[in-house]
Amino acid sequence: MSDHSTHVEKNNLISVLKKDTGVNVYKCYQCGKCSAGCPVAFDEMEYPPSVIMRLLQTEDPKNEDLVKKSYAIWVCLTCEMCYTRCPMEIDIPTVMDYVRQVSVKEKKTNPKAKTIIASHEAFLSSIKSTGRLHEFGFVMGYKFKTFEFTKDVMLAPLMLQRGKLHLLPEKIKDLAHIAKIFKKTGK
Ligand code: SF4
Ligand code: SF4
Repeated sequence: MSDHSTHVEKNNLISVLKKDTGVNVYKCYQCGKCSAGCPVAFDEMEYPPSVIMRLLQTEDPKNEDLVKKSYAIWVCLTCEMCYTRCPMEIDIPTVMDYVRQVSVKEKKTNPKAKTIIASHEAFLSSIKSTGRLHEFGFVMGYKFKTFEFTKDVMLAPLMLQRGKLHLLPEKIKDLAHIAKIFKKTGK
């Protein structure tokens, strides 16, 4: 943990993360300020952000798996409170985002995160096909992924009435640009 540069060539999660994002989790010295300020650390997360940093620092595949399989990475709101408070300026939201991607890729997602992942996928699907969020398509996509067809269904007429839900999507002009972004990110 002392020599940060020697870790770059290793193949463990913390090193690959550093190589891909530039975020150096080795710099964490466990002051706990991130966890103290995180709005969901103690009610929703099984591991607060400082513990996630420590688990990654151990370079132990078992601990890496604890992080990849955690619910904590999915309930992170990307609010950046931790990043703002961190004396070492560690970009924890980027760490969370990176581990989420690894977790999906390695099929290690926490079962409790199923609906959160479904909403992420429905959101991306809407952006990919229209270039913006089409609320109705987003809701339908989410329901097909979760099979929660009847939940909150009574809200739909009210939302339609108030103009919050548009049945037909509006596409942006430069959809090709969006397609390029998705291609670049491998989605
Ligand atoms: S970005 Fe995530 S980990 Fe950081 S304070 Fe917000 S919710 Fe907590
Ligand atoms: S605030 Fe920064 S240094 Fe302190 S525990 Fe969190 S990540 Fe580590």
